Amino acid sequence: MSLIDPFQRSITYLRISVTDRCDFRCVYCMNEEMTFLPRSQVLSLEELADIGRAFTELGVKKIRITGGEPLVRRNVMALFRRLGQLKGLDELTLTTNGSQLTRFAKDLRSAGVKRLNISLDSLRADRFRELTRVGELDKVLAGIEAARAAGFKRIKLNSVILKNRNADEVIDLVAFAKANDLDISFIEEMPLGSVTDHVRREEFCSSRELREQLSGSFELTPLSEQTGGPSRYWQVDDSATRVGFISPHSENFCASCNRVRLTAEGRLLLCLGNEHSVDLKAVVRRYPGDQERLKAAIVDAIKIKPERHYFTHDDEPQILRLMNTTGG
Ligand code: SAM
Ligand code: SF4
Repeated sequence: MSLIDPFQRSITYLRISVTDRCDFRCVYCMNEEMTFLPRSQVLSLEELADIGRAFTELGVKKIRITGGEPLVRRNVMALFRRLGQLKGLDELTLTTNGSQLTRFAKDLRSAGVKRLNISLDSLRADRFRELTRVGELDKVLAGIEAARAAGFKRIKLNSVILKNRNADEVIDLVAFAKANDLDISFIEEMPLGSVTDHVRREEFCSSRELREQLSGSFELTPLSEQTGGPSRYWQVDDSATRVGFISPHSENFCASCNRVRLTAEGRLLLCLGNEHSVDLKAVVRRYPGDQERLKAAIVDAIKIKPERHYFTHDDEPQILRLMNTTGG
């Protein structure tokens, strides 16, 4: 069985947000004061594993665990272990802020996690604290080191670049990636929900500007390989490091979209930049253990996957949910 949407795109990639909670409060992602979902509304680890299995039985080859911060969810390793054993799954991956990796890197690897994306927006401790509001840079750097020591290869850093906050650090970030044998992606900020202390429009920095900045210090060779995702990659000098640019504003990548997202409360989002969704929690709670009914609901949901994203309407954000509830 496979999941093909109305625009003939094959859906092979599921991103699962396992919690909306986080130990950071990044300025572009969350407000300082947050009300999180009550636990009863969040899918249990058991329900998450059942949904993961249903998707792999429908042809999904890759699952990425994200959040919120996945590693703050209690007993989340049990979920990694279950998903890591799914037949038909080629890749289990994780996006994390890195703060808990010194504790979990080894276990993640033995649970079958293949690759890690670690978010890192600044290499300056004071600035890192301002961007995350509470995060400690040293802990994240130690987490990156722990992940390398655990044997993870081609770890990818994710940096959201904001014009007045960290755009002057892109050269340092690429140099850091190169020195530590990492890849790095620069992300244009997406207008998801409204956040306080931060005016998104004033902070926008396009991938093109970043590439121009970097080309003064590095030789960037465009790579033709496509990941089916929004990143476009360049090789840095003669190193193994690749630099990617995720440009939801300046480059449209919807035609090759192969993914859907499951929110922590069990809403299957068919597109990051649209509100089209189906409530899978209602299905798993009404018919616990009924995998056939769950799979039928997923097949039906794919029929409403929109053709492309529309983050804004008349220049106003139209998506009201924040990234931590979406599963970025
Ligand atoms: N807590 C984990 C982390 O920070 O890596 C996983 C969840 S976080 C929502 C996933 C990614 O989304 C991070 O790389 C973060 O920088 C990015 N992100 C959050 N809000 C964003 C926004 N408004 N626009 C673009 N990227 C955003
Ligand atoms: Fe937490 Fe990740 Fe959002 Fe930062 S980007 S607040 S680390 S969920």
